[in-house]
Amino acid sequence: MKQYDAIILGAGAAGLMAAIVAGQRGKRVLLIDHADEPGKKILISGGGRCNFTNLHTAPDRYLSANPHFMKSALARYTARDFLDLVEGHAIAWHEKTLGQLFCDGSAKQIVAMLWEECAAGGVDLWLGHPATVERRDGFAITCGARTASAPRLVLATGGPSIPKMGATGFAYDIARSWGLKIVEPRPALVPLTLAGDDLLFRSLSGVAAPVVATAERGPAFGEAALFTHRGLSGPAILQVSSYWRSGESIGIDFIPDAPANWLAEAKRQDPRKPVRRMVEQALPARLAETLCDRLAIDGLIGGISDRVLAGAEQQLRRWRFTPNGSEGFAKAEVTIGGISTAELSSQSLEAKRVPGLFVIGEAVDVTGWLGGYNFQWAWASGVACGEAL
Ligand SMILES: Cc1cc2nc3c(=O)[nH]c(=O)nc-3n(C[C@H](O)[C@H](O)[C@H](O)COP(=O)(O)OP(=O)(O)OC[C@H]3O[C@@H](n4cnc5c(N)ncnc54)[C@H](O)[C@@H]3O)c2cc1C
Repeated sequence: MKQYDAIILGAGAAGLMAAIVAGQRGKRVLLIDHADEPGKKILISGGGRCNFTNLHTAPDRYLSANPHFMKSALARYTARDFLDLVEGHAIAWHEKTLGQLFCDGSAKQIVAMLWEECAAGGVDLWLGHPATVERRDGFAITCGARTASAPRLVLATGGPSIPKMGATGFAYDIARSWGLKIVEPRPALVPLTLAGDDLLFRSLSGVAAPVVATAERGPAFGEAALFTHRGLSGPAILQVSSYWRSGESIGIDFIPDAPANWLAEAKRQDPRKPVRRMVEQALPARLAETLCDRLAIDGLIGGISDRVLAGAEQQLRRWRFTPNGSEGFAKAEVTIGGISTAELSSQSLEAKRVPGLFVIGEAVDVTGWLGGYNFQWAWASGVACGEAL
């Protein structure tokens, strides 16, 4: 049985980062993944270009039962720190929008960079076999025909979102078996599905529009919404999905850029214009038509009373959908919930009740907004842990 200072389960974003930091501090580190290569989710992230961080990273862009938990790790390893690493490897990058940083080239460059840094720290990598773990004077691991042990074990196996990419609930199973609490995991950053009266909107599949979307609780997100054959998607919807609970509605402002009393004013300026043409100026034509059908407004704008126009405008600003569900873990970019932060030190991510056990990345009940925030949590929690191993 090979002896290490630390064994890290999961060679994803968080596990690779913890391995780099501990390895480069001179620790003997074994990194294990059941996939056939490290960083598979990184490779498909950001449409293959990896949205590797966000310049606006701040604790209020994360969801957790304890909104303070992530503060320490995020303050100690910032978006700028990760950018320094990226630039140190001469990887070209750009800001796409809203502080979101992407590779100009490919996400493969990020995985290659992380692996190069691991190699510089002398990290061993075992791939292709699931591991079984036992607590025995530290932690003993069996992985295929090989065995290893260490006084420290890191759970970095992520959450159950996108199982076809190798995601599992492994971290939860281990944590539960050792008595750690789990905050109920739910799919997040996920498309929402529509039924009932809203089925009509499915015929708009493929139509996108800039909106401001809001869940019943949580902030407003001004980004694009996309109609799909099952319901609603696009960045604005993915963002609100993290705050949405079954049975609740979401609100959409379809005309966020229109000034107040837009329709009444338009009537005064051009009463002979069909109201639908007017709405089409603010929205894609098919969407404008569907919304006007639902609002039962038609004909020349001059023939419609100011009261009806004001009511229609209000509705366009506060359209309510009540999704009947989401597309689930199969399509969720991340998992909300996970191993309770109450079980972990916010400084080192070590389990309070199981000394030597650490949990990092998405397995922890910390979930970021869309836009590079989840990787920044993976890097930051990986660094905090790597420094403590
Ligand atoms: C399609 C998609 C696109 C995304 N794009 C972005 C983006 O652009 N920016 C962003 O910030 N976030 C993005 N995310 C979210 C981001 O990928 C995750 O938040 C992040 O990867 C979490 O890092 P992690 O290391 O905790 O888990 P992961 O990266 O999921 O790594 C976990 C690792 O553990 C391994 N594993 C699982 N179970 C076992 C087991 N039993 N034994 C051994 N190994 C195991 C897995 O194979 C995997 O390699 C995206 C997610 C998806 C699904």
